[in-house]
Amino acid sequence: MSELTSTRIRDAAERLGLTHLPDHASDLVARAEAEQLGYFDFLDLVLGEEVELREQRRFRNALKLSGLPHHKTLAEFDYAFQPGLEPRKIKDLATLEFIDARSNIALLGPPGVGKTHLAIALAVAACQAGHSIYFTSLDDLVRKLKIAEATGRFNKQLNALLRPSVLVVDEVGYLRLEREEANMFFQLISRRYERGTMIITSNKSFNEWGAVLGDDILATAILDRLLHHCEVLAINGPSYRLRNRMNLIPGSDMTS
Ligand code: ADP
Ligand code: MG
Repeated sequence: MSELTSTRIRDAAERLGLTHLPDHASDLVARAEAEQLGYFDFLDLVLGEEVELREQRRFRNALKLSGLPHHKTLAEFDYAFQPGLEPRKIKDLATLEFIDARSNIALLGPPGVGKTHLAIALAVAACQAGHSIYFTSLDDLVRKLKIAEATGRFNKQLNALLRPSVLVVDEVGYLRLEREEANMFFQLISRRYERGTMIITSNKSFNEWGAVLGDDILATAILDRLLHHCEVLAINGPSYRLRNRMNLIPGSDMTS
């Protein structure tokens, strides 16, 4: 390849935002020669590599901005440990149809049963499929909204929380909310209702939400919207965190 051609390819690739081609043009051509690729196959190879790399970059950046505390996948989830949870239900959810339907998922159960793991894994799968995602604990969510309110940016902050296709709100019920905080949560739920998916995890059953949110009427209004289109998964098995230490916990009996 002449110096001139190589410079022209580099310039054109740069202007088109193709990042892989400039440094790999020679490798790609060598590969095409070795595999005796036709012209169309060569074009397919060049564009395919570029798309693949761009996709990987998008996924990595989206994960960085997603607020996810760590990366978990559905493949890492051990269903045998949680026999009360039907694997088929999770596999159905893994098709991600709930996102297009703008319906919600509620994962309920005591600590350590894998609620956050499943919420993260579904969010990661959604991100991989090209959906925008955001993860927050309810506590952080409320804190952010309160700061925004105090600085006159409440609507802006609320709008930011309406943008992602999938919003995970983790740990509803660990901390009680003040009335004003519960009201902010209600505003979020009612604005996202039928517009975007939420995945909620909670260690409290729905009939305890009134106490958590400090107001039965508000809790009913929140649950009314949240549960209208919602897959509820109650996981009531043992804690995975304590799987090797159950004998140390008073009253626990793994053999029953
Ligand atoms: P929860 O949110 O219900 O309190 P987590 O999802 O945080 O529980 O799970 C606690 C830890 O145990 C995490 O590291 C998670 O990856 C792991 N874990 C929980 N359940 C399972 C499971 N069935 N298979 C594999 N890992 C699990
Ligand atoms: Mg959790």
